[in-house]
Amino acid sequence: MSRRAIRADHVLGHSDGEHVLIADGEVVVEGRRIVSVGPRGSGPETEDAIELGPALLLPGLIDLDALTDIDHTLLDSWQSPELGLGLQWSRDYAEHRRRAVFDAEERAFIREYGFVQLLLHGVTTAMPIASEVHSDWAETHADAVAMAERAEKLGLRVYLGPSYRSGVNVVDADGSRSLYWNEELGVAGCAGAARFLDWAAARESDLVHGALLPCRIETLSEDLLCRTAELAAASGVPVRLHALQGLLERDLVRAQFGATPLEVLARTGLLGPKLLLPHGIYVDSHPRVDARTDADIARLAESGVTVVHCPLTSARHGAALHGFERYRAAGVGLALGTDSFPPDLVRGIDIGVTIAKVLDHRLDAATYGGYLTAATLGGADALGRPDLGRLAPGATADLVAFRLGDPLDGVIADPVRTLCMNSTARATIFSMIAGRIVVRDGAIAGIDLSAMTRRAQTLFERMRAAYPERDYRGRTIDQLFPPSFRTWA
Ligand SMILES: [Zn+2]
Repeated sequence: MSRRAIRADHVLGHSDGEHVLIADGEVVVEGRRIVSVGPRGSGPETEDAIELGPALLLPGLIDLDALTDIDHTLLDSWQSPELGLGLQWSRDYAEHRRRAVFDAEERAFIREYGFVQLLLHGVTTAMPIASEVHSDWAETHADAVAMAERAEKLGLRVYLGPSYRSGVNVVDADGSRSLYWNEELGVAGCAGAARFLDWAAARESDLVHGALLPCRIETLSEDLLCRTAELAAASGVPVRLHALQGLLERDLVRAQFGATPLEVLARTGLLGPKLLLPHGIYVDSHPRVDARTDADIARLAESGVTVVHCPLTSARHGAALHGFERYRAAGVGLALGTDSFPPDLVRGIDIGVTIAKVLDHRLDAATYGGYLTAATLGGADALGRPDLGRLAPGATADLVAFRLGDPLDGVIADPVRTLCMNSTARATIFSMIAGRIVVRDGAIAGIDLSAMTRRAQTLFERMRAAYPERDYRGRTIDQLFPPSFRTWA
């Protein structure tokens, strides 16, 4: 097996359980594994070397709430509360008129478009998330198979399964919020998810792994939550469930279950080390929940769950973790996610650190190193993958390099701070996943991103055009999505 060295001006190696910076470093890869990490020339002889020059070489980023959609935050993150109601399904639409805006091939294309974007932003392991707003209920077994095949072809590592739910958030005719339930669809969806776990296991590929990805906690019946916990226990796969995400969720769950979301997770058997929780924000210590107790964070830590923190998307929806260091100090597992466009964990890290400073009125409220650790080791821990998230001998060869030294980035100080503060994940120039080069010179071989973007734009227009039929007040596109300024007339 041939050995190859990958060298860069800055390498983030790993020693004694934590990341370490190496100037003028090299990583030597043999097959799918890393065999050595250290300063240039410290490793064994190699047949081949890739010189990345002014760049920061990192362990591949792990995105556990990974955008696999064409944009929706552009559409749904800025309306008034009343206008925002128009972006939900009306009860009438859910009951009588729901339909899929995209067919199966279009859905597969949209997921692939998301994967390409993730790769070009330095993500090497992804747990996909797509909006269900334009589906006729949730995803199917066939959707998950199509996604897995496309990810495998691209060379991206995915943990996935079809999303499922037994309820959907709706707006009633009087403008109030509630849930429309269809348990039969939930049970069928869960059966599809179970079938996919078998399919993925039979694949025996390190690029495709099964996971249970039910939708939001308030959209699952207690029975479906229990079934999910049983499936997870039997198969050993991770479960990702959106929870502690909003105050409306808390109210709906309390009305439905007579308990808080966290209590429901515990009593259904889901609260444990296999659980990944986007976004984990509304715990009892959050100022808008109670703020007088810290019991929830302690309970999260004790149970071993991982909170999948999506700083950029949360901020765009007016929410923030209170706060990153508080969770970390308590021992809560923390990983990162992008959740929506742009799938840029570097920007996510910067906004996360910045918001932590604002909330705590301290410049050391969170660090770039702490956040980057969440995006690498935190994700690997959540997946039970000690071979990922680190550049160390024996680890799987998942590497990503971000260009440093673009004149527009200005001067270079500490390479991690320089990347996070002055650049973005669009500076991805190289990535290798399980020893295979996937991104080279900022591009993926065989992928015409411009052509994909043209098609994505067409699908996006159709997606936007489908909102009025779902609005409980039937408003027009122009009413639901007014431009930033009035248009010239
Ligand atoms: Zn999310």
